[in-house]
Amino acid sequence: MDIVNLSVSRAKNNEATEAVAAKAGVNLKDCYQCGKCSAGCPVSHAMDIMPREVIRLLHLRCWEEVLEAKTPWLCASCVTCVTRCPRDVNLPSLMEEVRRASKAAGKRPVKGPSVFDTLFLKGVYQNGRSNELYMMMKYNLFSGHLMQDALSAPHLLFKGMIGFKIHKVKDLPDVRAIMDRCLGGELP
Ligand code: SF4
Ligand code: SF4
Repeated sequence: MDIVNLSVSRAKNNEATEAVAAKAGVNLKDCYQCGKCSAGCPVSHAMDIMPREVIRLLHLRCWEEVLEAKTPWLCASCVTCVTRCPRDVNLPSLMEEVRRASKAAGKRPVKGPSVFDTLFLKGVYQNGRSNELYMMMKYNLFSGHLMQDALSAPHLLFKGMIGFKIHKVKDLPDVRAIMDRCLGGELP
């Protein structure tokens, strides 16, 4: 087990951890580690650390551990934790900001969700909505899962649930303006 010098972590990572919390609109001190978020999280079985522990690591300024955790990448943003939290801590927002910081630091500890996240945001920025067929094809290509869902594609095409035509929304500049505001102009 690695020994962590908390005084060094605090001095080194104070700014980064506070910045990520501020961007997420979360006051880390609000969390008193009751664990209700983790107990209700439907994805916790697949996570390497519990959602509660992401906050605890941020409390302790263990920034590298947070950036390398798989948990933020597996968070489904279902908001169950927020509804259960007695302190209204917005964990999905925090997970989102950790993902962005992890990406910016070149970490991406889980490849699939990271590829999906990038392609989805780029697709929505381009057309104002996601076009499933192209999203599936690009995801398979860039994630290395070349044949994933390939057998379902003909059925979905036949039923008209996906198609080759690229749909764009009418108010594309508005969608882009919203995304620019949310992402601070940093598309992945
Ligand atoms: S439920 Fe809220 S207060 Fe409790 S551990 Fe989770 S985030 Fe912290
Ligand atoms: S928003 Fe994320 S952390 Fe919260 S319960 Fe859902 S999957 Fe778990």
